[in-house]
Amino acid sequence: MEFISRHISYSEATKSQVASRYGKENIPNEEQLAAMKLVAEKIFEPIREHFKRPIAVTSFFRDKSVNVLAGGSANSQHCKGEALDMDADVLGGLTNAEIFHFIRTRLLFDQLIWEFGSDKNPDWVHASYKQNRNRKQILKNRKNGYKTEYELWIG
Ligand SMILES: [Zn+2]
Repeated sequence: MEFISRHISYSEATKSQVASRYGKENIPNEEQLAAMKLVAEKIFEPIREHFKRPIAVTSFFRDKSVNVLAGGSANSQHCKGEALDMDADVLGGLTNAEIFHFIRTRLLFDQLIWEFGSDKNPDWVHASYKQNRNRKQILKNRKNGYKTEYELWIG
């Protein structure tokens, strides 16, 4: 099996239910793949190494046309290969809040999002990393009816 980092396989990083449902391809180009390797190395692997638990990668690369079908935001970093979504609850032994706080306090990142859920635990954690100018922006996402509202994290 081909891997983009020690614990993330290429197929895990490019799988997309939406893409397969609509018969779309979801294949990163060289530049996008390089960005994916970087965020895997700088964000995912340090978490994996620290907690020594498997963590599900629920969404990683999304081709632009796939992202539109998935209802993702137009300038999503998933399309550049710079962002991934992690969900510890899928495999257990670790919480999404633990992942979130580990990234927040220990790692350099561009954007970190507490995705929905409750005040105790998000449904999943979105994190991104760029080659340059990582902003260390932290947001909390919640639903207000059909709308998604973002608020800045106040620690
Ligand atoms: Zn995401």
